Amino acid sequence: MTHRTYELDRAHVFHSWSAQASLTPMVIESAEGSHVVDDEGRRYLDFSSQLVYTNIGHQHPRVVKAIQDQAATLCTIAPQHANAARSEAARLVAELAPEGMDHVFFTNGGADAVEHAVRMARLHTGRRKVLSRYRSYHGGTQTAVNLTGDPRRWPNDYGSEGVVHFFGPFLYRSEFHATTEQEECERALEHLERTIVMEGSDTIAAIILETIPGTAGIMPPPPGYLEGVRALCDRYGIVWIADEVMAGFGRTGTWFALDLYDAKPDLITFAKGVTSGYVPLGGVIISEPIYATFADRVYPGGLTYSGHPLACAAAVATIETMKDERIVEAAATLGSDVLGPGLADIAAKHPCVGEVRGVGAFWALDLVADPQTREPLAPYGGSSPAMNEIVGACKKNGLLPFANYHRIHVVPALNIAHDEARQGLEILDEALSLGDAHVAR
Ligand code: PMP
Repeated sequence: MTHRTYELDRAHVFHSWSAQASLTPMVIESAEGSHVVDDEGRRYLDFSSQLVYTNIGHQHPRVVKAIQDQAATLCTIAPQHANAARSEAARLVAELAPEGMDHVFFTNGGADAVEHAVRMARLHTGRRKVLSRYRSYHGGTQTAVNLTGDPRRWPNDYGSEGVVHFFGPFLYRSEFHATTEQEECERALEHLERTIVMEGSDTIAAIILETIPGTAGIMPPPPGYLEGVRALCDRYGIVWIADEVMAGFGRTGTWFALDLYDAKPDLITFAKGVTSGYVPLGGVIISEPIYATFADRVYPGGLTYSGHPLACAAAVATIETMKDERIVEAAATLGSDVLGPGLADIAAKHPCVGEVRGVGAFWALDLVADPQTREPLAPYGGSSPAMNEIVGACKKNGLLPFANYHRIHVVPALNIAHDEARQGLEILDEALSLGDAHVAR
């Protein structure tokens, strides 16, 4: 039976971001909590949360039941009607957002949330350009991939219509020759302001930033950076879109990554953790001035499944479960007590670990072939034998890591048991010795 699953997959399924012929996907038959089980009954500890979305773990019974109950009552109703699940999901999301952000436009995922946030910003300002940082990911649809500042954009970009990229702060690989966080912050803000001025400030609708860039390397911004972005947006009449698709819904040990900083955006995009990925859902949280733009003027955009009841029921149950089980607090403790110190120990042991960055349940190991020059262990946008060996060893020993180019991200469920998290770190620790063998001496 499971062999048939694999055969049919290879015969008929066209996979994302892949050369099709060389794929050998694992067949996953079931999952529970922090584990997934393959077709041979092997259990893997999920340190990836899949694509960083199973924030409350797999198959939480309360969310499964809420989806079942909603399906039994009303599977679907079109966006123009009001519906209990949608109203309640919007209320709960708005309640978690900063004050004055009371309206939610629902989408099917992150990329379409980004598309709509950009459209709202363009219509609100009457301007067209959008600034986005290098080392970012905003989604796979056309506008979202044009905004993306990593190699996944390259083959998809036909001249980045209306998009201008700039460098954000990233001290470990500083573009600004900075040696302290404060210097990096000041210079990155100066660079952003120069970019705004040289592009023509009154042509720029929005600046989009992942609050903490995720797939591009988990790079928490230095203190003051987002506050500085807010000030620049105010000075030049630009909309700030905070992309919280990956960092939001507890991942950082706060409901939004934004809660770690003292700055309020105009639009927030979210997806992934809002339903723990059980049913696809995303959205845009809208501040009052942008809402007011569309009070009497038609918002020219929509989606057949905007605010789908099954997804909204999953969101309501996920958020309530996170509150009742104090799962956001658990993520903060996981970071401060287990992952933070554990990864620091690992970094101290392994020459191939250049830097550890992160917070809560959101961590990256930046792996290097040479600790002095910080040459990455795989080329930008590529793979390497060393990375393949590390990932292979993790899987062989029952750990599913999240690997991206020269980085391993440690992004488990927020409520993973501490002893399970420590077991995962042990497997990772052992696997990284294979990376050390590739380090220049
Ligand atoms: N923004 C960010 C920050 C993301 O991490 C992602 C997905 N990894 C997206 C947008 C796109 O979301 P989706 O894949 O749900 O379209």
